[in-house]
Amino acid sequence: MSRNVVTFHYTLRDPRGQVIDASLGGDPISFLEGAGQIVEGLEHGLRGLAAGTKARIGVPATKAYGERDESQVQRVLRSLLPIEGEVKPGDQFRAGNDAYAPIVTVVGVEGEELLLDANHPLAGVDLEFEVDVIAVREATPEECEHGHAHEGGEGHGEGGCGNHDCGCKGGR
Ligand code: ZN
Repeated sequence: MSRNVVTFHYTLRDPRGQVIDASLGGDPISFLEGAGQIVEGLEHGLRGLAAGTKARIGVPATKAYGERDESQVQRVLRSLLPIEGEVKPGDQFRAGNDAYAPIVTVVGVEGEELLLDANHPLAGVDLEFEVDVIAVREATPEECEHGHAHEGGEGHGEGGCGNHDCGCKGGR
């Protein structure tokens, strides 16, 4: 079965219409269908759209970053954390060293303890994507094997994929 690589620009808004994120002004996003590279509901909404299509795709939280889980809010001794300097509610940092470590948000500071929320910052938020499909093409066998699109950068040479995040060392 053939899979597609879809390239698109997006503007992401929360239910109040606030822009959370947008690709305009930067490179468009490319993803390999069925690889879990973008949130499930967005991928579903993009499926079958041709290049040149503009669309609004509403994605409920359950099909995006999931519902909030209050057990993910925990009290942690500040000294156990890799942080320095002033910490205040709203600060965010990665809970580990690799790029896929979850981002935690400081929701409270109580003396030497911090109240940390490990829910994804967009957990429980219904999302609205405004998308502009730039290109749709068939994925290469190499992309299917790697499980991601090789797009959006120079130097996708033979047997590698240049400068995208994963560096193609097994990736995700
Ligand atoms: Zn790759």
